[in-house]
Amino acid sequence: MPLRPTTSSDLLIDGELRPGSGGTFDVINPATEQVIGQAANATADDMDAAIAAARKAFDNTNWSRDHAFRARCLRQLRDALLAHTDELRELTVAEVGCPVFLTHGPQLVGPVTDLGYFADLAETYEWRRDLGEAKPMGIPNRREIRSEAAGVVGAITPWNFPHQINFAKIGPALAAGCTVVLKAAPDTPWCAALVGKVIAEETDFPAGVINIVTGDDHSLGALLSTDPRVDIVSFTGSTATGRAVMADAAPTLKKVFLELGGKSAFLVLDDADLNAACAMAAFSVVTHAGQGCAITTRLVVPREKLAEATEITRNALAGLRADDPTKPGTVCGPVISARQRDRVESYIRLALEEGGTLETGGDRPERPGYFVSPTLVSGLDNSSRVAREEIFGPVLVILPHDGDQDAIDIANDSPYGLSGAVWGADPDRLDAVVDGVRTGTMGVNGGIWYSADVPFGGYKQSGIGREMGVAGFEEYLETKAVARPA
Ligand code: NAD
Repeated sequence: MPLRPTTSSDLLIDGELRPGSGGTFDVINPATEQVIGQAANATADDMDAAIAAARKAFDNTNWSRDHAFRARCLRQLRDALLAHTDELRELTVAEVGCPVFLTHGPQLVGPVTDLGYFADLAETYEWRRDLGEAKPMGIPNRREIRSEAAGVVGAITPWNFPHQINFAKIGPALAAGCTVVLKAAPDTPWCAALVGKVIAEETDFPAGVINIVTGDDHSLGALLSTDPRVDIVSFTGSTATGRAVMADAAPTLKKVFLELGGKSAFLVLDDADLNAACAMAAFSVVTHAGQGCAITTRLVVPREKLAEATEITRNALAGLRADDPTKPGTVCGPVISARQRDRVESYIRLALEEGGTLETGGDRPERPGYFVSPTLVSGLDNSSRVAREEIFGPVLVILPHDGDQDAIDIANDSPYGLSGAVWGADPDRLDAVVDGVRTGTMGVNGGIWYSADVPFGGYKQSGIGREMGVAGFEEYLETKAVARPA
């Protein structure tokens, strides 16, 4: 059965595909600026029905206790989606504007395949642990720790890596035994809606266990944060919205899990292969037009090599021009929307106002689509706004350092602490830098940490909690201590 919606997609609520009560809204291809179809526009009533369905499914079914059944449903979903890979690839590139090469990894096949990792965890996790005997107040007791599903999860996701982020939430949440309402980003509704269609038509997930809501109104997300029937809000997006989610969740004291922004540093030590390091820094910052929260956007090089590093990076970026994301060789596609391009361009203007120099880029390629040329900014220090604020575009700021400790200090002189990279030759010095930088992930000499079993998340204002890996699964669990007389 073909997946592509001809006129519009549907919501998935209580096991049924249904139109949005608010009609539809346009889906736009960011590489062409063309309207490519419509998505269901949910209202507050639709969200209310989705939350009610998730609550009912959690409270009134055996879903949270049947680990084997959950594993089977997750594998069924993985296999059904993989059977639709070609259609999903075409649609994902059209809706997200992501380079097609990324759909072989984190933009599609990676996170779909990783559903199997969470299915395995549901089956193999130690749900009950015997703590043995103890004698509190002299009375012998046998104790046990039980892990249980935390309840109804409200998952709120952004547009930059929709499949990766949607599945990094619904995979572990469902494997843990929770029920879910997924609220997709307004710019990428189809990536979520088509998963809903596959769930409804090709899997055995019980009604209400997973509900998928699309809409053009951001306030739909706030309904999840405030609703007392929701136990956890799992949010990925900007730090500003993360603050709003946390504040909105406070009155009902629900658990909040946040994956937020970043301004990660790429540190080059004085014994590093400068050519290889700068080429990698350039490649990283233009990948998916820089729209990745963990992308390294500050290149920090030895002061005595600043001119050389600037030249290498400028040349590398100039060779990585923004292009059609459907071409297999494209690394830098468009940004998601006209609004996002305006935001990126305002930061490029700000770089000049702050006294920076544009070494390359800063312009718009002459073609339709929301493209921004790969851009290198020099001549600023780490106190400038373009070195401190998340731009979410293909813009790299190059900064000098005066030795390893100074490089660490510059990396840490940021409100964020999401990711980072270090390049060098001496293992002890590399290790000391990894120890010193306060971030959730670090790549050494090009090391790639992204994988289903690796926890991902941030220090400081980059977030609270970890996604993926066992730690990501445990975010969706509660702990119950049980004691009986021995
Ligand atoms: P955003 O914060 O504007 O929106 C994210 C989601 O939150 C969307 O679904 C949106 O509709 C919803 N939302 C908006 N206002 C809300 C509110 N008051 N309450 C509840 N939900 C609300 O972010 P974006 O523009 O979609 O995505 C880009 C941002 O996301 C960047 O800052 C980027 O760094 C961040 N991001 C972080 C990670 C990570 O894992 N740390 C991953 C991807 C993106």
